[in-house]
Amino acid sequence: MTLTLGAVAAEAAGCTNCGLAQGRTQVVFGMGNPDADLMFVGEGPGAEEDKQGLPFVGRSGKLLDRLVAEEMGLTRDLCYIANVVKCRPPDNRDPKPDEIAACRPWLEQQVELIAPKVIITLGNFSSKLLLDTTTGITKLRGQSYPMGDMITTSAVVIPTYHPAAILRGGGLQEAQMRSDLVRARIAMSR
Ligand code: SF4
Repeated sequence: MTLTLGAVAAEAAGCTNCGLAQGRTQVVFGMGNPDADLMFVGEGPGAEEDKQGLPFVGRSGKLLDRLVAEEMGLTRDLCYIANVVKCRPPDNRDPKPDEIAACRPWLEQQVELIAPKVIITLGNFSSKLLLDTTTGITKLRGQSYPMGDMITTSAVVIPTYHPAAILRGGGLQEAQMRSDLVRARIAMSR
């Protein structure tokens, strides 16, 4: 039997593999097109995502949608969006290494089943995890990379800022993120 993304999502909905299960309203598995050529990987659900059960539905998500539409001409329903951890960390704290490790198999299955051409990692946590590096996002961004050892896939990984950082930071980072999205658009057309 071939495993489907829906079946994996149904299984993940009951996951208690790390302590984040205790504080969540629901697991935020991911959303979008299961055959997408472009996948985004963020950090973890915030309050609104936890409430709605969908990733990137707050202010960060709206900004991401706008930048992707303007620089790539794509709408959310054509992409797939997921996070490194699927349950909301309390008070929106950073996910801990043991939580990221516990949740990693869900993300691995998502990447393997979707098999995107390009993965845009949003911020430090997803960039470090998928590229198997300790280098921070400011140094990583601006280039394309082959996937780290995490998963066997031919996807190109393009790291960029988390949209929450753009909301905090402003002009220069937004311009850099826009150029990363253009880089992703070109990689998708190859
Ligand atoms: S964060 Fe991931 S590993 Fe932890 S309980 Fe939620 S789905 Fe399971």
